[in-house]
Amino acid sequence: MEKRGLPGMLPMEQYAANFAEAEAGLTPKAAAEESNRCLYCYDAPCIQACPTGINIPSFIKRIATGNPEGAAVAIMDANPVGASCSRVCPTEVLCEGACVLNGPSQPIRIGLLQRYATDWAMRAGKPLFRAGAPNGLKVAVIGGGPAGLSAARELAREGFETVVYEAKPLAGGLNTHGIVSFRLPQEVALWEVEQVRQLGVDIRTGVRIGTDVPAAKLLEEYDAVVLAAGMGEVPPLGIEGEELEGVYDAIRLVEETKKPGYPPVPLLGARVAVIGAGNTAIDAATCSVRLGAEKVKIVYRRTRKEMTAYDFEFEFAKQEGVEFSWLTAPKRIVGDEYGRVTHLECLRLRLLDLPGKDGRPVPEPVEGSEFLLPVDAVILAVGQTRHTGLIAQLGLKHEKGVVTVDADTHRTSHPKVYAAGDVVFGSGGGEAMVVSAAEQGKRTARAIIRHFAGQPKSVAM
Ligand code: SF4
Repeated sequence: MEKRGLPGMLPMEQYAANFAEAEAGLTPKAAAEESNRCLYCYDAPCIQACPTGINIPSFIKRIATGNPEGAAVAIMDANPVGASCSRVCPTEVLCEGACVLNGPSQPIRIGLLQRYATDWAMRAGKPLFRAGAPNGLKVAVIGGGPAGLSAARELAREGFETVVYEAKPLAGGLNTHGIVSFRLPQEVALWEVEQVRQLGVDIRTGVRIGTDVPAAKLLEEYDAVVLAAGMGEVPPLGIEGEELEGVYDAIRLVEETKKPGYPPVPLLGARVAVIGAGNTAIDAATCSVRLGAEKVKIVYRRTRKEMTAYDFEFEFAKQEGVEFSWLTAPKRIVGDEYGRVTHLECLRLRLLDLPGKDGRPVPEPVEGSEFLLPVDAVILAVGQTRHTGLIAQLGLKHEKGVVTVDADTHRTSHPKVYAAGDVVFGSGGGEAMVVSAAEQGKRTARAIIRHFAGQPKSVAM
């Protein structure tokens, strides 16, 4: 067997450089030039393509006329996490994909212009919105991610007393903890959290509803509850060897690299296999590269066509040197006598012609195709669990942890409880886009506002 040293830690300066934001923003001159290319279309298709309906020509016009603050207000009004979205939205299939300048020339770089305006607002550091006059109604929001923050922001602007319960020590959800910092620095997400807090929203972090506070207490104390708890942990694969040293959970790995200071993840010189092919798998793979891994391979049981990661994520991973092993499934993780990972045993698969329950072709094992992949680390990125315990405590109707809601009112089977974000997105199609979660949070808040219109007094204790 080949003798190798243990994976090590990247030097601090190198780590800081590798995890600094990869793409530079526009300079004022470049932003002015780019905004002046916009045709300010009537019935602009870019607006239709934005899930939050940002008035894109209007904010671009404001940049062109030297009003970045006004541009930031237009963006953040429609999308309370618009600074994060300017960095993580798949713009090529949304606004930029719909821009009329595709074909005759290059589409307007809407994402970068959005980032230019919101970066300006971040540097200016002042609140963009004001809270509404108190209306005597109280709403609890479970989860401080994109959906929860958007709901809370809209409710606070209408005068609802709003409390956000966030299980982690910092709010912001995926944007704060789960998207690699070289694409989305944590301070961007935390600025969005502050924008919500400055409206008087009480953001209580480190509180897990269902464990620290019974869900029934919220139902008693608040006029409405918004469930926006997102997704849970990465589940175990259920194969031999998952307890070995060198096996990591993709979400936790990325989260470690978003904490200030030095990451306790030794991958320098490692050969890494990432299991899964969603956006989290890509993030874990590119993180591994930037932690100094020598070779990173994504192992996926289907093909490029079925993977749920966005195209731009896939392209980015390839540029970073990540390799892909399609139609391959892990069978067991093999360790040495010290309990450290040495190999991943895999087998080859082929896809059946008939689609499975989720519409995707079903893979079946190729007999006798087992092989050993030499690795020093294995990262699990095979989806996330759902908050079924909390959903049960709230007494909500659901399908395998996907909460059932009315499409117009976002109300669940409990008359006081509304739901938004990943808790209502179905399985099989990957995780919800940040921008879709933000829009759902906004719409949920508006449904609550409509429901209570004309009921100025709190009905809760
Ligand atoms: Fe401007 Fe393109 Fe939108 Fe037209 S479609 S308003 S050119 S960004």
